[in-house]
Amino acid sequence: MCPSCNGEVPPATDGKVNGHGHHTPHNPRRQPFASVGDYLSNVSNFKIIESTLREGEQFANAFFDTDMKVKIAKALDGFGVEYIELTSPASSEQSRKDCEIICNLGLKAKILTHVRCHMDDARIAVETGVDGLDIVIGTSPQLMQHSHGKSMDYIRDTALEVIDFVKSKGLECRFSSEDSFRSDLVDLLNIYSIVAKVGVNRVGIADTIGCANPRQVYDLVRTLRGVVQCDIECHFHNDTGCSIANAYCALEAGATHIDTSVLGIGERNGITPLGGFVARMLVADRDYVRSKYDLTKLKAIEDLVAAAVEINVPFNNYITGFCAFTHKAGIHAKAILANPTTYEIINPADFGMTRYVHFTSRLTGWNAIKSRVNQLGLDMTDSQIKSCTVRIKAMADIRHLAIEDTDAIINAFYENLYSEQNDEKPLLEDMTADEKIRFAQKEAELSQEPESQHLDQIVDQQTNVLANHGVNGHEGVNVLNGETATET
Ligand SMILES: [Zn+2]
Repeated sequence: MCPSCNGEVPPATDGKVNGHGHHTPHNPRRQPFASVGDYLSNVSNFKIIESTLREGEQFANAFFDTDMKVKIAKALDGFGVEYIELTSPASSEQSRKDCEIICNLGLKAKILTHVRCHMDDARIAVETGVDGLDIVIGTSPQLMQHSHGKSMDYIRDTALEVIDFVKSKGLECRFSSEDSFRSDLVDLLNIYSIVAKVGVNRVGIADTIGCANPRQVYDLVRTLRGVVQCDIECHFHNDTGCSIANAYCALEAGATHIDTSVLGIGERNGITPLGGFVARMLVADRDYVRSKYDLTKLKAIEDLVAAAVEINVPFNNYITGFCAFTHKAGIHAKAILANPTTYEIINPADFGMTRYVHFTSRLTGWNAIKSRVNQLGLDMTDSQIKSCTVRIKAMADIRHLAIEDTDAIINAFYENLYSEQNDEKPLLEDMTADEKIRFAQKEAELSQEPESQHLDQIVDQQTNVLANHGVNGHEGVNVLNGETATET
């Protein structure tokens, strides 16, 4: 699905409006969650500048030795990011050596280094073998007063000198302000238009303090898009949780490059995370994102970086959090089993991940249990499975059930169906006397509860509505997985 044209032919452009031309529309099917696109939008035409080895080095826990930097650079290159940004070689002698080593790896990704807008730093950087320099200087009143103490005239003159020098070496050059959203708009547009005129490849907007919201981002990038013809790079900190939304909005407004880091690590609580950003973009244009990046490598990269900086991948992380594709409520489970798109906007298989339908709780439903019964190879009718489900829900109301417990209940229930002995086997061997009493009561209550039947009806209706509207399931729907889920 092409979100930037919604299947309609875009207005004619000269191919320069977005800095690097418009793409050809494809697949004209309209989806309600697709972005509102126009001729400015680069939602289907962007590049990632991966900054784990620059911004990420500023993360509180980060210390990357040379071997680890090489591993991370290779992993990012394997994933397919277009650029890898490295710490300034002017920072330390080891940083300079590491920069040279990574430049010599022969990666497909272009190697950039991030330096202050200063000739001393630029001279060191151009000798390392990098493909380009990202030069940066603070432009907000706060930074001009308390950080470098220079005026806009000084910034302009220095920028022109550094850009001229970098271009004379045949390297790519980006000029970025720092703390752009607290900078004076007239100052910003003025300096960007000056550097654009002398041939800078990209201008950069940086929400260094994480203060911007998506609408402010859209307005600023849209305004800048009208002032410069070159590419626009954006860098968003995540202090107020807007880093992914801001990146997306920037692309909608005509930005061309987005800075990311693995798991979002960086200064304070970091920047736009690579995984979350890719998830957002995949939903906007799956074909485009899949054609550019090897998504199945995401989890390994995150695990590598998480181990290197000694953190756990958060439970609610995009794509790779342990519950990112776990479905628990019975109403969800039934629909997911019928058609995964009912409750999944992303197919876990795109990332080599698997979905897990939770079947062992009081929220379970008979469809989830039915799948488990099938996995266990037991032959039971729907009405027998419903009866078994009532007992599992009753048991889950009085104690926590592990997967093995629920399997034991299913197996005991099955054996009792065909047992010729008078004594029924207890559903769980280790029930206490108190649990047995409470279970008997719960079982009786649940078997009379009309609500569970009502829920089944609702799910039936929802599933039918989705089916009637032509929402396709992810290909190869297998279902129900135990703790070690196995899906397409
Ligand atoms: Zn930053």
